[in-house]
Amino acid sequence: MSFTLNDLPLRDDLRGRSPYGAPQLDVPVVLNTNENPHAPSPALAKALAEAVADTATGLNRYPDRDALRLREELAAYLGHGLTAAGVWAANGSNEILQQLLQAFGGPGRTAMGFEPSYSMHPIISRGTGTAWVSVPRDADFRIDVDAALEAIAEHRPSVVFLTSPNNPTGTALELADIERVARAAPGVVVVDEAYAEFRREGTPSALTLLDEHPRIIVSRTMSKAFALAGARVGYLAAHPAVVDALQLVRLPYHLSAVTQTVALTALEYSGELLGAVADLRRERDSLVDWLRSEGFSVADSDANFVLFGEFEDRNLVWRRMLDRQVLIREVGPPGWLRVTVGTPEEMVAFRDALLKATGR
Ligand code: PMP
Repeated sequence: MSFTLNDLPLRDDLRGRSPYGAPQLDVPVVLNTNENPHAPSPALAKALAEAVADTATGLNRYPDRDALRLREELAAYLGHGLTAAGVWAANGSNEILQQLLQAFGGPGRTAMGFEPSYSMHPIISRGTGTAWVSVPRDADFRIDVDAALEAIAEHRPSVVFLTSPNNPTGTALELADIERVARAAPGVVVVDEAYAEFRREGTPSALTLLDEHPRIIVSRTMSKAFALAGARVGYLAAHPAVVDALQLVRLPYHLSAVTQTVALTALEYSGELLGAVADLRRERDSLVDWLRSEGFSVADSDANFVLFGEFEDRNLVWRRMLDRQVLIREVGPPGWLRVTVGTPEEMVAFRDALLKATGR
């Protein structure tokens, strides 16, 4: 019997849509999903195993539904006078974003983003029945704030996404620009700071704005700086009223006891982990310099990845890189490619493959 997706009573607004799909290919040099290339150190891996073993003895019970200890420790990590009441955690920042859209978006409402940006913002918006309005960035991948304010006045979005540093361009936002958007926006402004720890000196976090702007929400993740993508831990900082709103949509016991334990243990190793972030930032800066010295166009990056180009046929370059066992990402504006910063050895392989793939 032939039976396909088309035969199911799928929602009309999901018909013809594509799922999120960064390729997961088994090659030696994987630089396509902005992961942290450093596996947990032996000491951290041992601490994680011990903490999970301890938690295992209580797995007949549901976890702490409010993840209170984890939220306290995340608040302490963030500083800025935050407490657990203004911090919320979930399975990756993707789930944080989904809960935000469940609470503040939905049918009859609109979310707005400035593209190119993180592809899950429109996907999660549509998945929650929220209309999506895309406003283009300028030629330098910056947000034209005047154009943003006009679009906000026209569409009155319930949710505005500002990604800083932005994926896939690496562009960070000025605090003054975030404030202008927040003053004009009628709903909540979600500053997606998944890559916050990778910013260069002098680009402060939107966390500093929370006291004065109760409709700004800062979304963070342990997937990148904490090298914990496999554990699925994201979180947000906001006014405690935002956390109250999310309690209305979150599933009970959404964050497993194992996840909470793993996140708490990783936070104890934040010194070690943030030291590795400093190395990655240096590696990122030298990658940008090298790409420019080879004549490529490169977007300034405050993240753990770099957008570079411009190629007449970027798919050809991407495929030639893959032929050389280096997986990067075909994403962003036409003609550009994105590479995640890996270990020094991986970057040697990347440079070598790119020179050959582009015939330099
Ligand atoms: N926001 C941005 C801008 C991202 O690039 C990503 C992951 N690539 C996420 C959120 C989601 O990350 P996670 O769910 O692993 O926290």
